[in-house]
Order: sequence, then C-alpha cells, then structure tokens
Amino acid sequence: MTFSKQIMDWMEQSEERIEDRLKAVDKLIDANQWKVIQAFQKHKVSDYHFASSTGYGYNDRGREVLDLVYADVFGAEAALVRPHFASGTHTIGTALFGVLRPGDRLLYITGKPYDTLHKVIGTAGDGRGSLGDWGVEYGEVPLAEGGRPDWAGIEANITANTKVIGIQRSRGYDWRPSFSIEQIGEMVRFVKKLKSDVIVFVDNCYGEFTEAAEPTEVGVDLIAGSLIKNPGGGIAPSGGYIAGKQEYVDLAAYRLTAPGIGGEVGAMLGATRSMYQGLFLAPHLVGQAVKGSIFASAMFEELGFETHPRWQDPRTDLIQAIRFTGPEHLIAFVQGIQKAAAVDSHVVPEPWDMPGYEHPVIMAAGTFIQGGSLELSADAPIREPYIAYMQGGLTYAHVKFGVLTAIQHLVDRKLLNIL
Ligand SMILES: *Cc1c(COP(=O)(O)O)cnc(C)c1O
Repeated sequence: MTFSKQIMDWMEQSEERIEDRLKAVDKLIDANQWKVIQAFQKHKVSDYHFASSTGYGYNDRGREVLDLVYADVFGAEAALVRPHFASGTHTIGTALFGVLRPGDRLLYITGKPYDTLHKVIGTAGDGRGSLGDWGVEYGEVPLAEGGRPDWAGIEANITANTKVIGIQRSRGYDWRPSFSIEQIGEMVRFVKKLKSDVIVFVDNCYGEFTEAAEPTEVGVDLIAGSLIKNPGGGIAPSGGYIAGKQEYVDLAAYRLTAPGIGGEVGAMLGATRSMYQGLFLAPHLVGQAVKGSIFASAMFEELGFETHPRWQDPRTDLIQAIRFTGPEHLIAFVQGIQKAAAVDSHVVPEPWDMPGYEHPVIMAAGTFIQGGSLELSADAPIREPYIAYMQGGLTYAHVKFGVLTAIQHLVDRKLLNIL
C-alpha cells in the first residue's frame, strides 16, 4: 500500500470506533432496498419495460411504469422521472415554475437555498428569465441559532400571497445541519397551521434513501431531485424526478414539455433500463456513501479537523463537510480525492468559475457519469471559512481509499506535519 503505517493504524482505529454506526446503516439499506423492490413488484416490472422509445415517445409503457414506481417509493400520488431534466437545478426550476404564478410568493424557510438556485429565483445574476422576471415574489427566513428553523420569523413572513414554502433538506454548501424527515414533518405541520393552502416544496437533492422515509411521506406536497445524485444509483445517464400531489406534478410536467402534453410525450432515448436499475441500486449505494462519510468524519476528527456532521451524528444527506485552515489545504484535499479515483485520477482539478456559482469552485469528480455525485466527489467554493464538501462513493472501500489518499497527499505536500 502507498499509505504510511500511521495512516493505516488510524484507519483501523476509526473503523473500530464507528462499527455500530456502520451496522445501523446496513439496517437502513435493508429497509430502503425492500421498499424499492416491493414497488417494482407491485407494478410488475418486466424486461419489456426496459425497451426505449423514439420520436414523441407516445405510449412508452416503461416510462409510465417508472413514474408509478417512483411515486410508490416516495409515498407520493404521482411522479415524473425523465432523462430530459438536465440537472438538479433544472428539475427544481421546473417544479417551481410549474406551480408559481405572477403575484405569488415563494418563501424559503431554511435560509439561503443552494447556490445555483439564486439565478432561478432571481436574487443573483441579471434576473432574466428568472421567477422574479415573471413577477414571482421571493422571501427567505434565515436559520436561527444552531441551524434550527426560526419559527417566529416564519410566522411573520407568511403573507396572504405566499403560495410555496421552500425547504432544502440537505446542507448544500453550508455549515449547518441537514433537516431530518421528522424535522421536515414538523415544518409542514407548522406552516399548514398558519396557512392551510400553501404548497410545501422540498429540494430533496442528496437526501434520497439516507433515511427510511422521504419528505412526501410526512405531508410535503412536492419534491424534486437529481438522477445524477442518489436515486440515479450511479448508472442513470442523466435526469431528474419530481414527485408529490398529482395536480402539482402535472403542472411541473406542463412546464417540462408543454401544457396539455405534460408527461405523455418524451422519448426515453435508451435511458430507461439504467433508470430502473439505478433506482434498484440506489438504496445500497447511498448506504455505501453514507458509511464513507461516517468514516471520513471519524478520520478527520482524529487529525484534529472540525467536521460536520460529526461521525456519531444522525445523517439525512450524503454530504460530509470538513473545515480546513486555508485555501491550500482545501485545494490539496480536493486534489487528493481526485487522485484516488478510478477515472481521471491523472488530472489535477483547479478552481474555476462554474456556471451558476458565485465564487470559484474546485471539484474532484473522477466519475463514470460526468459530475455524478453519488460517486466519490468533493467540492469546495474558494471562500472563507474554507470548507470542503465531500460526498458519494459507489463503494465504501473507494471512499476509504479516497480519504486515505487525501490525507497522504496533505502530508506529502507538507500541509499536515503530524506524521
Ligand atoms: C446539487 C444540488 C442542487 C442542484 O443540482 P445540480 O444538479 O447541481 O444542478 C440543488 N440543491 C441541492 C441541495 C443540491 O445538493
């Protein structure tokens, strides 16, 4: 092996320390795997569903059943699962544009949403084409102390025209806890008591299968997520899903294609089988990634770094945040993760101005699916307080290899001199 004995010893100790947490993840994998298989069985998924369609894609039974399977897995009335969603941002944008009308207000109650959504909402960039450009008002309630919802702030901000309440389940690029399904349920009950006709929307990116239930099972009306992340299972070539109340899913489908057509067209272009198989694999792979995050957290805590979540904390997304002392450490860590990849290990990532982001971002993504972040990947906006966000890993062994490689890289670059 290429790692120092000290690093290998730490690996052994860390794994011993986290043993019970890893076992709990195995239980979670069982629950979600069984749930997914039962949804496949209920809809009698067969080989012929994997056939693809061309042109309009009328009567594509594989596509229709995939929607039904997703709806069941998410405990929702309906779902729209398509390779035509170009990214998570596109999927979330489609859901929001689907249900919001000029004069309506969107209120995010979990603080600033994920970076790429600012231009969708119209709070960043020149606003062209954004929700704001269409006359949709926007408000946001920052999180209170300790990353908790600011209940009084929420109450004060729900106006008569507040149509959609936005919740982001995952921490995204923020040093705050992610929201558990239980907490999301509490938020739903709170806002519906204040205004019973609000549509509660959850950005579910990175959250799928990290707990035994999904937001739509605790009263959330509409969710969206990316198949380049968790539910794509590492093999869906692209796409996103929207799930929730039939009425809202229909409106989102009208946005994706056209009013009156909705989800009834859309050739699947050969993606169908990977989308089914990805969903089948997703609970297991999410479990591998969660185990990897627990390990990474334990290792970096051992080295004296601050991590979020801590290894023993409950988890409701894939993301592991690690705080470094400066940009050099941050960049070296991300480069170390890249060095451990099976794909593109020979390229050295550098910070760049990515479309949709407001700061230079460095990303390690040696992945089979471009940018696939259920695969081991790491991102860091180059800004204080120098936090790297790592996520994913199709196998637990790969995450361990990545963490050890990154630590060894920091040592080799003389950025870590405790060895
Ligand atoms: C990744 C992510 C998005 C955006 O998805 P992209 O595929 O990067 O466009 C939105 N919200 C959250 C919480 C995410 O993690």
